[in-house]
Amino acid sequence: MHGIAAVPSYVVMQPTTLCNLDCVYCYLPMRAVDRRMPVEVAEAVAAAVNPWAAAGRFSVVWHGGEPLAAGREHLAALLAPFGPEVEHHVQTNATLIDDAWCAFFAEHGIRVSVSVDGPRERNTERVTRGGRPAYDRILAGVAALRRHGLPFSALAVVSRPAPGLATELYDYFLDLGCDVLGINIEETEGVNTRTNARDPAAVTGFWAELVAAWRRDPRIHLREVEWSLRYAGAVLDGTADELLPRRLDPIPTVAHDGSVVVLSPELAGFSDPRYGGDFSSGNVLAAPLAEILAGAGRTPWVGEFLAGVEACRSSCPYFGFCGGGHAANRYFELGRFDGTETEHCRNSKIRLLEGVLEHARDHESPAA
Ligand code: SF4
Repeated sequence: MHGIAAVPSYVVMQPTTLCNLDCVYCYLPMRAVDRRMPVEVAEAVAAAVNPWAAAGRFSVVWHGGEPLAAGREHLAALLAPFGPEVEHHVQTNATLIDDAWCAFFAEHGIRVSVSVDGPRERNTERVTRGGRPAYDRILAGVAALRRHGLPFSALAVVSRPAPGLATELYDYFLDLGCDVLGINIEETEGVNTRTNARDPAAVTGFWAELVAAWRRDPRIHLREVEWSLRYAGAVLDGTADELLPRRLDPIPTVAHDGSVVVLSPELAGFSDPRYGGDFSSGNVLAAPLAEILAGAGRTPWVGEFLAGVEACRSSCPYFGFCGGGHAANRYFELGRFDGTETEHCRNSKIRLLEGVLEHARDHESPAA
């Protein structure tokens, strides 16, 4: 894997910076203000995305803020320029979902992913602007999705991995009815400056326990675990080198004002004079998205990040699994982009793979 691909596999769009919640661990800098994406930005993105979607599978992920806080009318206007081949996804806190939103999702073929951290007592940091727990409103939104027969994914943040938690979470999400689950160990990034240094054994044990819970009843697609097992299988087959894409997916995030940040949505809205101001590679109101992506390698911080990926390649035994980690984690943990190991990669790459291997060791059949 070398350099950045010219065509992404999906685009992240920020219809508004506003979020109606104020979760304690949130990284978003402008979540208290409603800066809405003008329709011209969506039109400019669609001009690039529609031909990509006609040529193969392509997604737009509506992310915020809270994307539903933009309102149905405005979101419909932002969706309108995209062709029928484009798959739309929304990452939402679910608190605004009601029957009318469900009808909207069905009408526009939008796949929903809900952010929820497990049972009530695991959601005490997901709170409203007034500091009240949001859990009942999240569940009301999920109930509406289920009433309408809409499949949904879930995304959970785990702040304190501990024995028993992985089983509890997996059983909870089985009951909740999601068909895909992603687990993020809390990250130090954006305006969330809490440390993410964790006890290594607790994190490895968490992942090992999650694999065990999933193997007992693998009805949910478990994002991290399935990728790890695929990698482990490819290592055994001798095909691991073919697993990572040849080039990094640029994953452009188009912010509310049309500015484009590649590789890490979490960098949108931040700036640093050492890297020439904000982290954007251009603005779709000034240049076509394809042209911005073609020149993304010249963005000051991106070159430094690519040097960091090469440092990972030559120094880290987990590179074939990880591909070099995320730009935002390096920046917010190490203060620059060309470092290698971060707490994030220890928690979510190295200990994930070790957890999967620990599970395999503990459950291997004795030799005949
Ligand atoms: S695990 Fe960390 S150090 Fe290793 S390749 Fe990934 S980001 Fe780099």
